[in-house]
Amino acid sequence: MRKIIKDLFFVDKVKIGDEEGLILSDQNGVPVPYDQAKEIVEKLVFFYEGEGAKDFTNEEQQREKLRYYGFDFETDGIFQHRGKPVYEWKEFRRDLKRNWGFDCACCGKKVSSKMDKGYYKLNMGYRFFVGAGMGENLKSEFSCSEDCIKVVWKDVLNQWLTNEGLKKYIQ
Ligand SMILES: [Zn+2]
Repeated sequence: MRKIIKDLFFVDKVKIGDEEGLILSDQNGVPVPYDQAKEIVEKLVFFYEGEGAKDFTNEEQQREKLRYYGFDFETDGIFQHRGKPVYEWKEFRRDLKRNWGFDCACCGKKVSSKMDKGYYKLNMGYRFFVGAGMGENLKSEFSCSEDCIKVVWKDVLNQWLTNEGLKKYIQ
């Protein structure tokens, strides 16, 4: 079984003549003693030359990539981005001179300031995904209900995951 225990080392390049080497230091910048460094190198070789290291690396890289883009599905689920909800409920303004409305991006139902109290809307973060070429099929960022906005968000997210080669995270 694979289990990751985080440890932090710094790697410094050293030139000896024309050859380049690496020195490991600990978190305080203190060079790791020879015996310990040798053990680390042996463990690196064990892992990188071992069976399935490539898969494992990919899996780790994918999780890193998700984190880099602001997702942590395991902790936050899929409706949070950079720790904030991806959608919100908005109340229609009461002081509108003219009624405003839209068709739900998911079910097509008409929503209007005349008939409804409010609506659901994707938050700004989604624009990144639309900007990154996702959401071509997205009619709008507005929905009639929480169920509908979840479907709309999933569409955008899944398109992005597909484009980024993160298909295994598709929801
Ligand atoms: Zn709807």
